Amino acid sequence: MQTMDSFNFAGKKAFVRVDFNVPLDENFNITDDTRIRAAIPTLKKILKDGGSVIIGSHLGRPKGTNDKLSLRHILSHLSELLGVDVQFANDCIGEEAEAKAAALRPGEALLLENLRFYAEEEGKPRGLADDASEEVIAKAKKEVKESQKEFAKKLASYADVYVNDAFGTAHRAHASTALIADYFDEGHKLFGHLLQNEIVAVEKVMKDTERPFTAIMGGSKVSSKIEIIKNLLDKVDNLILAGGMTYTFAKAFGGSIGDSIVENDKLELARELVEMAKAKGVNLVLATDAKIADSFSNDARTNFTPVKEIPDGWEGLDIGPESEKIFTEVIKNSKTILWNGPVGVFEFDNFDKGSRAVSDAIVEATRKGAFSLVGGGDSVACVNKFGHADEVSYVSTGGGALLEMIEGKVLPGVKAIRGY
Ligand code: AMP
Repeated sequence: MQTMDSFNFAGKKAFVRVDFNVPLDENFNITDDTRIRAAIPTLKKILKDGGSVIIGSHLGRPKGTNDKLSLRHILSHLSELLGVDVQFANDCIGEEAEAKAAALRPGEALLLENLRFYAEEEGKPRGLADDASEEVIAKAKKEVKESQKEFAKKLASYADVYVNDAFGTAHRAHASTALIADYFDEGHKLFGHLLQNEIVAVEKVMKDTERPFTAIMGGSKVSSKIEIIKNLLDKVDNLILAGGMTYTFAKAFGGSIGDSIVENDKLELARELVEMAKAKGVNLVLATDAKIADSFSNDARTNFTPVKEIPDGWEGLDIGPESEKIFTEVIKNSKTILWNGPVGVFEFDNFDKGSRAVSDAIVEATRKGAFSLVGGGDSVACVNKFGHADEVSYVSTGGGALLEMIEGKVLPGVKAIRGY
């Protein structure tokens, strides 16, 4: 399979699918350009080789053409980062895009308008009445699926080679992330640097695992992480479950949890997960004590109690010192570490100590040679808050895509290129 390093783009036109879905303020200023920066190495390499790039992306969730979600808003910043005057096509398909793509010379770049202005990109019908019959819905779905192939073929026709560097949407089987690859032979489709790095990092954790392997799953709810937890139980030596889900487990085993966050319909599941861990010989580590608060606020009164003895009117918002010690001990002795989700309400400075301790321990283990992968929106925000982003092995940019890979699913955007 071709890679960014092995492929010489000289004289070639590359269609590069990126994820420029960046947040914009009300004046269309980019408030966080991380995603644009992440794709720059791939784009630069192609231009440097003497190739040209046709850049495709989505922005937001438009229901049709919508100037607020035009990629024109990012054009000047992209030009600045790339060091090239990037051209713009007002429509991602049609005569203008076709002519501009055809006229591109080596070293030139063209940004296409938001791919999701077309329903064909996602392959989901639009504009159906709320009370549309199943028959009407099925017909509309069939139609959009058929035109989706044409749309992908059209995009493919602009280029000699297809590069996917959009990890954020690699778990979607969309026209420009997956279907388009069918129109290029094996030697002319490849992963961009970002996507390649993400795949390597996740596979290092999930497949070439050095042991002991510890996963730390935090966040607010167990329900959103069930599939991941189940898949991890087949892979890890230690599974630290923390954050809001702590209290669902504490209650499931007869604890009093006061006003802490809880999912009452998941108590049985919590007991099952504990049994599954036992059966598989996984060391399941739960918090034993909590930093409790008398309201959900940074300025609340606080105290420390065992997780199973939280008084009414109080809620657990962080782990306590005993849990901190247990967690960090496990982490420091690990060779592979995966962290997804804070262990407390880290957004409040008075309740970020547990997450900070976890982050510190991961950094220490990494210094001693462990491989650490941090991913999923909130844990990335955590390592950024603590200034640790450069001290862990890899910080993933992907939310849903990363979680699906950890769940053990094959991502359509990955399969479209390498076949598995
Ligand atoms: P998730 O999106 O499920 O990964 O949840 C992340 C959120 O969980 C963060 O915003 C944390 O503030 C929150 N969280 C962590 N621990 C707790 C807790 N003990 N109680 C309430 N929310 C929590």
